[in-house]
Amino acid sequence: MENKQVPHGRPPRVLLFPFPEQGHVKPFLNLAELLSLAGVHVTFLSTHFIHDRLLLHSNVQSHFETYTGFIFKAISDGLPDNHPRLGEKSFEFFKSLHVVTGKLLKDMVASGELGSDLRPSVTCIIADGALAEFTNNIATELKIPIIFFQVVSACSVWASFSIPNLIENGELPIRGKEDMNKLVSGIPGMEGILRFRDLPSFCRVSDVRNPILQVVARVTRQCTQGQGLILNTFEELEEPVLSHLRTHCPNMYPIGPMHTHLKLKLAKKEVSSPSSNSIFETDKNCITWLDSQPLKSVIYVSIGSVAVMTRDELVEFWYGLVNSKKRFLWVIRPDFYKEVEDGKNVPEELLEGTKKRGYVVGWSPQEEVLEHPAVGGFLTQNGWNSTMESVVAGVPMICWPRLADQQVNSLYVSEVWKIGLDMKDVSDRKVVEKMVNDVMVERREELVIAADETRKLAIKSVSEGGTSYCNFDRLIEDIYKMNE
Ligand code: UDP
Repeated sequence: MENKQVPHGRPPRVLLFPFPEQGHVKPFLNLAELLSLAGVHVTFLSTHFIHDRLLLHSNVQSHFETYTGFIFKAISDGLPDNHPRLGEKSFEFFKSLHVVTGKLLKDMVASGELGSDLRPSVTCIIADGALAEFTNNIATELKIPIIFFQVVSACSVWASFSIPNLIENGELPIRGKEDMNKLVSGIPGMEGILRFRDLPSFCRVSDVRNPILQVVARVTRQCTQGQGLILNTFEELEEPVLSHLRTHCPNMYPIGPMHTHLKLKLAKKEVSSPSSNSIFETDKNCITWLDSQPLKSVIYVSIGSVAVMTRDELVEFWYGLVNSKKRFLWVIRPDFYKEVEDGKNVPEELLEGTKKRGYVVGWSPQEEVLEHPAVGGFLTQNGWNSTMESVVAGVPMICWPRLADQQVNSLYVSEVWKIGLDMKDVSDRKVVEKMVNDVMVERREELVIAADETRKLAIKSVSEGGTSYCNFDRLIEDIYKMNE
């Protein structure tokens, strides 16, 4: 479809609006580039907080300049720059986006300032599923077609979609710790595998009126109410869950793994690589360190851009890694590294063990790391981007989910796709050590065979004629039709 360039008259203009977090901005940038390659004019709107960091730490501006009609725009999230946006403050942040950003967005779309001279109007909005509530209202009021993009797995969308059923049948709220290992019965297709501890983290509340639980339940329903739903997954991976979702949202576009989809399309155009699309400063020195490590000898450890570890958890992980006697590359973001620096009293044996076999970095070029021949395993929080990146690299995982969709993803990684081991809710040095040894040695063969199978399916889906490839063609056709 990339040769379907502007068939008649003016090309469509699509407004892309991600939820303001690294894990959402990245797949949205991949989508932006895929659309640009297909001749669609794109306006990429992010909050000032994201926009400024993206321009500072990535090459997106110069990279996207090459695409005709591409525009970067910024909008306020209603909070001062130094205001926390994560953790306990996340609901405040969410509310501010709804109230302040929602109003500004409506004015910006209506005034034509998100378009170009050639075409002031936006012909289609692709909004983050997490922002479905207010973006759907704006699209309806302004009579602009809207498609939602959920950057998380289909299995977690389906679990969140089912929250109202779980409330209705009395399975939520969870009655207590003793129920965490019991099976949930109210989610079609997940009976017999999903335990209460595998539900999205928002379900871990004692009162179903909890505002975050309520918002998640509402927006997940809303995101099936647009003209279509884009997912960064592929049919072969999540087919059973996708078919359940399709009974509520018939027009779905599973087009992932998007980072690979994009890479393959860029390679055809002989463009070497996509933009670096990180809002954090990336330390590439770890690649030099990896270059000097033996094949498949390193376990890569990262818990993504949002989750944090307490000092106790960090020390347990540290012991587990050092005692495993395996080489490790560990991302410790500066925002939780500080705790360790301040905590002093880090046992000498940990520092020694790290000097011998480890490498610590503030933020890595993760896709490159996972594709590196020295990497043999990934201890991950199972954010969906990380999970997809690991799938494509064929690297078996140790799952340590922290929040949101991660609990569901890790269940599917370990119990359904069998490409990793789930360490959910445990942070004990002995367990970490055992898990590392299992993934790197004891259970390596079975995990690598399954991971390799899944990797092949992923690559096939985004290759010419594959399911994600064809779903993307259909998305482009539909966007062009909205322009007629
Ligand atoms: N990432 C990275 N360097 C790091 C850690 C993470 O580039 O040191 C990227 C990673 O490749 C992924 C994204 O950050 O694309 C994190 O998204 P994910 O959905 O995995 O998790 P989240 O950060 O939303 O929890």
